[in-house]
Amino acid sequence: MSVNETDLQDALKKYFGFSQFRGLQEKVIKSILDKQNTFVIMPTGGGKSLCYQLPALMCKGTAIVVSPLIALMKNQVDAIRSISAEEGIAHVLNSSLNKSEVKKVKGDIESGVTKLLYVAPESLTKEEYVDFLKSQEISFLAVDEAHCISEWGHDFRPEYRNLRNIIKRIGEDIPIIGLTATATPKVQEDILKNLGMGNAQTFKASFNRPNLFYEIRPKTKNVDADIIRFVKQNSGKSGIVYCLSRKRVEELAQTLEVNGVKAVPYHAGLDAKTRAKHQDMFLMEDADVVVATIAFGMGIDKPDVRFVIHHDIPKSIESYYQETGRAGRDGGEGHCLAYYSYKDIEKLEKFMSGKPVAEQEIGHALLQEVVAFAETSISRRKFILHYFGEEFDEVHGEGADMDDNVRNPKKKHEAKDEARLLLEVVSKTGEIYKSKDLVNTLTGKSNALIISHKTHQQDFFGSGKAKEDKYWMALTRQLLVAGYLKKDIETYGIIRMTKEGKDFITSPSSFMMTEDHIYDETKDDTIIT
Ligand code: ADP
Repeated sequence: MSVNETDLQDALKKYFGFSQFRGLQEKVIKSILDKQNTFVIMPTGGGKSLCYQLPALMCKGTAIVVSPLIALMKNQVDAIRSISAEEGIAHVLNSSLNKSEVKKVKGDIESGVTKLLYVAPESLTKEEYVDFLKSQEISFLAVDEAHCISEWGHDFRPEYRNLRNIIKRIGEDIPIIGLTATATPKVQEDILKNLGMGNAQTFKASFNRPNLFYEIRPKTKNVDADIIRFVKQNSGKSGIVYCLSRKRVEELAQTLEVNGVKAVPYHAGLDAKTRAKHQDMFLMEDADVVVATIAFGMGIDKPDVRFVIHHDIPKSIESYYQETGRAGRDGGEGHCLAYYSYKDIEKLEKFMSGKPVAEQEIGHALLQEVVAFAETSISRRKFILHYFGEEFDEVHGEGADMDDNVRNPKKKHEAKDEARLLLEVVSKTGEIYKSKDLVNTLTGKSNALIISHKTHQQDFFGSGKAKEDKYWMALTRQLLVAGYLKKDIETYGIIRMTKEGKDFITSPSSFMMTEDHIYDETKDDTIIT
């Protein structure tokens, strides 16, 4: 379908009442209207839904939207119905419908009234539904929250893995639209592969949130007092405090209350009525602070959340990004403060110990990134964006000075020789080690793996003994972020050379290194450097 710009603007105005497209929306919509497979990566709140809703309303036939959460589907259907006189314009097809409801949905699709049909991936495994949809005119199929297809995403849903086969059965030529707010290159690759849409037009928005300030503090035994102090300094502002356990949520909410802060707890252990009440209190500003587990936040659209505190460090950078992303939606100030202690990492590792091995490996690799993020002293924004496969200019980029590391920079020193030594070791060992064993090789500590590769007999074994493990670990991370090395995700973190790294060995240039923070959780409120 070929449309001109005025038609698109008119349709946007007519259906949604908006006068302008945001960011990449228009390009995405054109691609969908051209019947191309299309892949959309945009941060939460970026306006992904409109990318498929508008073309669905404009095209002949029904668009199928696969979505993982019934609550989200219902919200969307209600929103679409509110813009049309025709109730049947959007429907949900799921197992909760009775026979006559299913009949009504089918009738509306057959008569061409239904433009958007929301389904859970489980529903698409039903023969009856697949057979029915096969016989209908389908405009395209959108897979929302497409990262659920990847074990490397934060919400892996095995049912998503069957989607490709089902889509094929409904119709070989149906264009597929994948949408996600998870930006890591590995997840993106998995989505394209699993949905069989290697040829997709990809649209990726920047994940930079220039108005968010990132800060990590050491988690000492005074953490609660520190949080109270912070919240009181920001009194009257809305904020979320995330804790790992329900018990901690309850305790901290109470401690805040006792200290005169209007705070409410929120976690999945509370009954639905209390949860709804506390959520409303927060939205209506009867409570300033919600202390919550990660159960809180999905679909919450409060634009003026001024701070997000992590009492416990999250289990991945994606979770951290999603959760901190709830601050400053209106473009105003958003302070993201996380407390970090290595003990918490060990706790999270322990939680995983009963899980299947592959899942543990993934969980461990994701946690290592969190450690690197917490301990790094380079620009936190640069670190996050690098993690999402995005370049960031830490001097001139938008929001460049918005983190603790940039505001209080540590001294840098020339590490040209050390960088070269490290890169040489990666190269000479044949790019087979993860960072820990690279460091062991440099500092001359052998173990079974190192012995099995005879690395301990090489002349470079122990060549970096003059420096401590921590130093080499920090240098490895900085060389990764700078692009001299890359981490192979498939192997859960083997370090490989890049072209830039190889060039550095042959003609080394200056490499200014900052040492990582060393947090000592036994001390009160101090960072030892
Ligand atoms: P996402 O799915 O990417 O998290 P949503 O689709 O929920 O984001 O959109 C976030 C908000 O932005 C919604 O309230 C939506 O109505 C609004 N929005 C989307 N596109 C536009 C636009 N072009 N102009 C104004 N508001 C928009």
